[in-house]
Amino acid sequence: MSKAPTHLADITKRDESLSTEDKFVADLVCTCGNSDFELQHAACNLEELGAPQTAEIDGNFFFVIKAQCKVCRKDHLVFDADYHGWDGFVCYREYGNRKHLRPPMVSWTCPECKGNCHSLKLDISMDRETILDDGPVDDDDGNIILNEENYQDGFDWITMSITCSSCGHHHDSWVGYETM
Ligand SMILES: [Zn+2]
Ligand SMILES: [Zn+2]
Repeated sequence: MSKAPTHLADITKRDESLSTEDKFVADLVCTCGNSDFELQHAACNLEELGAPQTAEIDGNFFFVIKAQCKVCRKDHLVFDADYHGWDGFVCYREYGNRKHLRPPMVSWTCPECKGNCHSLKLDISMDRETILDDGPVDDDDGNIILNEENYQDGFDWITMSITCSSCGHHHDSWVGYETM
């Protein structure tokens, strides 16, 4: 049974009908119970592509998605490519991007009604055998950072679909990010 990546465990409601052994499908739900969010992305938005893009700032690349609860205003970090998934979790030392300041964020607006309130569904691929192909993963100091207990943190692919809370406009592949 697939589990939520650790950083999403408290803010997701697993979709039992769509989730599988190696796929975690869930709605984003705030700890207060609300599922309407102001979505924010790193400040590079190529309008013609109609979806958040990797942002290049001073030669460094960022891909960050945040969600602020519309009811209690709590901020949630949904995905940061420097911290989550295989590359972010396992290879971050190699790329070293964590040392850079996180990029400024901008609010996502619906292309139909210009509203900024959305619900978000996550579909995260996490094949245990691929992730633990060479056994548990350790860091440079020999500490185990990925094993059977938390292999889902090294997920290989994350997709997000969003629905506008005001007009119902649905974007099925708002984010599709391969982390491996
Ligand atoms: Zn809330
Ligand atoms: Zn809308």
